[in-house]
Amino acid sequence: MAHSACLSLGSNLGDREANLRSALHSLSRLGKVMVSSFYETEPVEIENQPWFLNCAACVEFYGEAGSTPEKLLVEILEIERRMGRRRMQNKGPRPIDIDILLFGQEMVDTPVLTVPHPAMGQRGFVLVPLAEIAPDTMHPGLNKTVREMLQELPLGPVVRRF
Ligand code: AMP
Repeated sequence: MAHSACLSLGSNLGDREANLRSALHSLSRLGKVMVSSFYETEPVEIENQPWFLNCAACVEFYGEAGSTPEKLLVEILEIERRMGRRRMQNKGPRPIDIDILLFGQEMVDTPVLTVPHPAMGQRGFVLVPLAEIAPDTMHPGLNKTVREMLQELPLGPVVRRF
């Protein structure tokens, strides 16, 4: 069976739309990509920074690159590095951020990788785009669908279609 994963992408430095498109183009080499609309979102945690452009992408991998969550993380870190991401302020401005939300129904918890992404259930900027393309996908830890998780999310920072 082909492996599949759902990712969250965000950018708030430079040409945000071009950054998302460039990262999506790189991901399309790994597999068949389904992309949500783009959303403009209010920063969370560190609020004194530019608004983000976010989207969700689900990838059905063609080959080895997506055969395990760890291999996918290597690919993602390489895309971020090529796009000039420097890790400076944690959760601060960045040209591109790519998170693994779900990897099939697998659960991983190591020092370098936690899947499902631990914060996905609390973030409108993750769940709103994801619910557009994968509403019936199950979160294996919570045994809820993405749609149910979004329905249970309290109103929070602004997430508006771009
Ligand atoms: P950040 O720059 O805050 O997005 O953190 C990136 C680091 O978080 C990566 O180098 C990973 O080692 C780690 N990480 C842990 N879980 C995940 C995940 N589900 N998706 C992406 N990165 C993760």
